Amino acid sequence: MYPDLKNVIELQQVDVRVEELTKQIDSLPAQIQSLHSRLDGFIHAQEERKKRLTANQHARKELDGDIKVIQEKIAKHKDQLYQVKTNDQFRAMTKEIEGEEAKVRAIEDEILEKMLEAEEIQKQVQEAASRLESERLLVAAQIAQLESEQKADDEERRGLQARRAEIQASLSESTRSLYDRIRPARRGIAVAEVREGLCTACNVLLRPQVYNEVRTNEVLLTCENCGRIIYYPGPARLGTNESESSEAGATA
Ligand SMILES: [Zn+2]
Repeated sequence: MYPDLKNVIELQQVDVRVEELTKQIDSLPAQIQSLHSRLDGFIHAQEERKKRLTANQHARKELDGDIKVIQEKIAKHKDQLYQVKTNDQFRAMTKEIEGEEAKVRAIEDEILEKMLEAEEIQKQVQEAASRLESERLLVAAQIAQLESEQKADDEERRGLQARRAEIQASLSESTRSLYDRIRPARRGIAVAEVREGLCTACNVLLRPQVYNEVRTNEVLLTCENCGRIIYYPGPARLGTNESESSEAGATA
């Protein structure tokens, strides 16, 4: 195989992988951020529950105070019952006391409701506290996993970038500039396989003469339709063949 062709094929593989890795690496901060936000959401919800519990306790205390005030009034009014002079006054005072006692019962009902609510919130707080703990561990593990992936991706990318520099240095000036011109113009793919007479990147049939030439892999040709550098990986095979095609490249 023509050395420039062999090298440019590898360069393309390296560039595709570098692009993939870069996408992965660039997506990691957002993934880590979203894990942190999920955890923050849990923590925030728990704080809200605790606030509701505190508000509930305050409300109960206030209601207790209200009852005390009314009960003092009732006691005073009961004392006054002995001092009234007329039946009308007695009835009026009794009615007043009954009204106050009804208020006390209503407030007691409200306190009972608040107590039930407090029990429910307390239960939620306890459940959430244990969930929060496992959530913290889970998020920490997931973040560690992402960070180790990032490290591995970084290392792989550094290795490929070094390899890229080597390949580039070995290419002839004309092939290098051809590759650098086609790649950005063709969405990152400057090199295409030819299979059964077709350029696999644009699916256009090659002229028979070009097809015959490309099959030798001894000359640097470009597709007349899409302009990509074309090569022949060998006769059609079953399945995928990245390793096979690089093997073919190495042995040809
Ligand atoms: Zn093409």
